[in-house]
Amino acid sequence: MILFQFKDIQQYQKDLASNKTDCLTAVKHYLQKIEDAQRLNAIVEVFAEESILRAKQLDEERKHGKPPGPLHGVTIVIKDVICYKDHHVTAASNILKGFKSLYSSTAVKKLLEADAIIIGRSNCDEFAMGSTNENSCYDKVLNAIDETKVPGGSSGGSAVAVQAGLCMVSLGSDTGGSVRQPADFCGIIGFKPGYGKISRHGLIAYASSFDQIGIFGNRVEDVALVLKTISGADEYDSTVSLNGEEKYSVTANQTKKPAIAYFKNALEHHSLDPEIKQQIYSLIEQLKTDGYTVEPLDFELLEYVVPTYYVLTTAEASSNLSRYDGIRFGTVKQPYETDLTKFYTNNRSTGFGKEVKRRIMLGTFVLSAGYYDAYFTKAQQVRRILCEKTNAIFKKFDALILPTVPSTAFNIDDISKDPIAMYLADIYTVFANLAGIPGISIPLFKHSNGLPFGLQIMSNKSNELTLLQLSDSLLTDYKRY
Ligand code: GLN
Repeated sequence: MILFQFKDIQQYQKDLASNKTDCLTAVKHYLQKIEDAQRLNAIVEVFAEESILRAKQLDEERKHGKPPGPLHGVTIVIKDVICYKDHHVTAASNILKGFKSLYSSTAVKKLLEADAIIIGRSNCDEFAMGSTNENSCYDKVLNAIDETKVPGGSSGGSAVAVQAGLCMVSLGSDTGGSVRQPADFCGIIGFKPGYGKISRHGLIAYASSFDQIGIFGNRVEDVALVLKTISGADEYDSTVSLNGEEKYSVTANQTKKPAIAYFKNALEHHSLDPEIKQQIYSLIEQLKTDGYTVEPLDFELLEYVVPTYYVLTTAEASSNLSRYDGIRFGTVKQPYETDLTKFYTNNRSTGFGKEVKRRIMLGTFVLSAGYYDAYFTKAQQVRRILCEKTNAIFKKFDALILPTVPSTAFNIDDISKDPIAMYLADIYTVFANLAGIPGISIPLFKHSNGLPFGLQIMSNKSNELTLLQLSDSLLTDYKRY
């Protein structure tokens, strides 16, 4: 048996420095855990040999006095939409089967430069479209707390990788909640920075004006360290903000308690599980007693966020996914047809799954000449109003709290059969992506059905520091899970 225990990155690195453990022991531990947890189907490819080699190399370097990078020896799993040079990346889609990345994403490059060890590639919903991780060419992922439940999606594999202790931290992507929602279902932390904080270079695009790489972990301090390492300006992504807070230490001096708002009509929404509502209300009361300012706001745009999100993201997806014609990426289907249109049709109909095809069709519809103004333009107008309202809120408040999901983890095979019900369950998460603000789900609560659920916190753009510090304080003082 390999003896290794992980508490947090800081402790691990102290143990490395004092020779209490080494990277090789850590990697072997995780490889064994991954092997033992195969039935969860969270990891679709393990980079076993190269992780061992890299661990040995890092151990050697340390012995020879080379200063360790900030993520020295940290084992990380990446979602199957994040490119890693010479490694397979498929977005869990048959259309990309066999495709190897020609270059590494900026996030991966920065992880490697910081001495991290990328140990595997995780399962997800096809092209990051979904909320259950059931739309995957690799089949579904099981929630390790209760294997009859989904882990959430689309980054379900990355969430379970952290939940089941298969790595120290993992990367996912969040276009409408795909990091925060599975974190909620799995009882871990899932953090999506503001739009433009982490470069999207080398992240397979779903909806480019929404997509952000996000981070899963068990400690806020670990998440903050990864954020610090992989964020920042990048010549390959002009939407990355050039300035902003680059220090994310959650222990930095918090002088005063942040002012918190919540949307009253969101907590009163008919789709919200009564027990989730009650536990969040009771937390709000407790926070007030403890000296926090917590005030209700009315959010009259609540019913518009899901339709707006699905009009805009499907429109962007239909354009982004037009590049997958079966020729430039992935395995070319044989035989070549003489009729090019037939050839494309054949490749795309067999290569894409049902949900992806549904979204390409929806997106093509809302962009079509006759409907463009009625749907796409309208949705853009709603998005602009939403951004203005968000700015106004953060003039008065430092943070906004909401549930992450209206219910605890769904049963396998349940909601995925009903796409509309699945879309509606995104009611609390899509707002942060529409407004481009940071959001996090922290595992504070336990439902009487035995499952965990999270509290979602959002802050103003570029105010990740406040968000992380508040998350850390709340986890320290109010964790009931
Ligand atoms: N559940 C949302 C969707 O299906 C979120 C997806 C995501 O964030 N990638 O679009």
